[in-house]
Formats: sequence, structure tokens, C-alpha cells
Amino acid sequence: MKSVVIIGYGPAGISAAIYLKRQGIEPLVIGKDLGALEGYESEIENYYGLPNPILGKDLIRNGIEQAKHLGIEVITDSVISVKSLEDGFTVITPHAQYETKVVLLATGKTRRTMHRAGFSKFKGKGISMCATCDGYFYRRKKVAIIGCGPYMMHELEYLRKISSDITIFTDGNPLNYEVDVPVVTEKIVEFIGDEKLSAIKTESQIYPINGVFIALGIPSSVEFASQLGVIIEKNNLQVDENYMTNVPGLFAAGDVIGGKLQIAKAVYDGMNAADAIYQYLAHN
Ligand SMILES: Cc1cc2nc3c(=O)[nH]c(=O)nc-3n(C[C@H](O)[C@H](O)[C@H](O)COP(=O)(O)OP(=O)(O)OC[C@H]3O[C@@H](n4cnc5c(N)ncnc54)[C@H](O)[C@@H]3O)c2cc1C
Repeated sequence: MKSVVIIGYGPAGISAAIYLKRQGIEPLVIGKDLGALEGYESEIENYYGLPNPILGKDLIRNGIEQAKHLGIEVITDSVISVKSLEDGFTVITPHAQYETKVVLLATGKTRRTMHRAGFSKFKGKGISMCATCDGYFYRRKKVAIIGCGPYMMHELEYLRKISSDITIFTDGNPLNYEVDVPVVTEKIVEFIGDEKLSAIKTESQIYPINGVFIALGIPSSVEFASQLGVIIEKNNLQVDENYMTNVPGLFAAGDVIGGKLQIAKAVYDGMNAADAIYQYLAHN
């Protein structure tokens, strides 16, 4: 069993990893991309120690290289689920599973959404972002999962326990898995309903549906955290003064806990979370 798995190799995750390593703890860091700064050409000027502006992406890459240089294990993979064990957690990716005493969520801010008519109206009224959290409300009802990758398979496995009437909508994407439930590959045009969602409209048809579970791409920490029962307010994971959530051993730092969404603050959070994790491991 590992001591600490850090999910996220942005400023918060890497800062925590460096401080943990310095205290003799060997964290495993898992990240999937360059986080908030992925896909932007933004230059950073307001962070300490930069004589010239640096591309945000390069600053993040430098952080990852620094961690590797210090001998920290850093891997690129996408975490699709975190499960509680009696004495820790299992962190699950499409390629591996890691048992660990402590998890630090340093996953940044992601707001997954679908830019389709009716999405915002029915989010929380038939459209859910988390099967484990909301699946129960749709037991024995007509359920749809929107997705085509490992996250979709994860949600399908869970929803099977709740409903036998499940359809997968790939929203125009190819499906890379063999499944034994109906699959609709057409693009979704609209989510339809009155007070609550009642159907999905694709390019050529309307499908009556009671509950839709969005499983596009990779889940955000808000989804992991909801699955584990973490208190979330205004899309921010709630932590105590030691950066621990209400789930013992599950810590969070950086943009994911809200406050100033800045690199300096994420680095500061990472440092503090590392100290708190060190103390937690010493007493548990
Ligand atoms: C366009 C733009 C410009 C900005 N400019 C500035 C600036 O000039 N100055 C400044 O201080 N701040 C700036 N920021 C904000 C800054 O980028 C963030 O505050 C900072 O990156 C937060 O660090 P973090 O470690 O909390 O999260 P992030 O940097 O977002 O890192 C999140 C990490 O979590 C990983 N992750 C998420 N989900 C998973 C998963 N399921 N599995 C595996 N890994 C996962 C990601 O791959 C990534 O490694 C800017 C942000 C944006 C969007």
C-alpha cells in the first residue's frame, strides 16, 4: 500500500509532492494534462522568480520536471474513480489501481458541461453528473449514459444495479467498447421536458428518458468527492484548517477548494497540505 497518492500535477499537487518528499514520504503523483493552463497561450508574469514572462504551460511542465528530478514518481494517467477502503482508498485509472492510506485531490477546477439546449435547465432535474450519487433516484426507470470511454463503462457498471433499462448515447463519438445495452451514436440536439427531463432528442429521433448521467471525458474531483460523501459548497470541496475533507485521509488543495484561483495560492495550499498529511500519517 502507498502512503500518499496525489491526483493532479499542477502547482498544488507538485508543491505538495515536493514538501512530502522532503519529509521522507514517497508520494505517487498522477496527472492527465496541464490543468487550468492546458490549451491556453497565457503568459505568467505575477509569480515569484520569473525575470521574463513564461508561458503558463511551460511553468507547469517545469514543475513536473522538477518533481521528477527530485526522484518523485510522476505518471500520466486519468483517474476515473476513488473508492474508500477500511484503512485508506483505492485510486482507479483505466490502466491500474493503487491502494493508498491518503489521497490528495489537487485536480483544479473543472466544470463539465454540454452546450446543448436544455442542459442547464435540467441539470439536477434529470441530468446528473454522478451515478453513485444520484443513481438511486432512478431505480427501475429509463436511464441514459452519455459517454464513450472508460468513465462511461464505470458508470454503466454501477447503474446496472439500479436499472435494467439503460441506453448509451455517444453523442457522435465512436464507442470503443462492446456493450450489451442499446447504443445511440447520433449527436444529441436537445434535452426535453417540462419541470423535469423526459426525453433526449437526437438528430433524427426523440428517446423518452427519466435520468441522464453525463460520463464524458474524465470525472472531475467534484465527482470523486461526491462519490465519497465529501461536503461540497458552490463547486468547492470543503476542507478544515488541515486541508482535510470530512472524509478522514482525503485531503484537497489548490483551485479545487476555492479561494483565490492563482498559482501562488495553489503552491501555498500544496505546502500546507503536505505538512498536514505528514502529521496525519504519523498518527494513523
Ligand atoms: C487562461 C488562464 C490564465 C491564468 N493565468 C494565471 C496567471 O497569470 N497567474 C496565476 O497565478 N494564475 C493564473 N491562472 C490560474 C492558475 O492556472 C490556477 O490557479 C492554477 O493552475 C491552479 O493550480 P492547481 O494545481 O490547483 O490546478 P491545475 O493547475 O488546474 O492542475 C490540475 C491538475 O489535476 C489533474 N487532473 C484533473 N482531473 C484529473 C483526473 N481525473 N485524473 C488525473 N489527473 C487529473 C490535471 O491533469 C492537472 O495536472 C490562470 C488560469 C487560466 C485558465
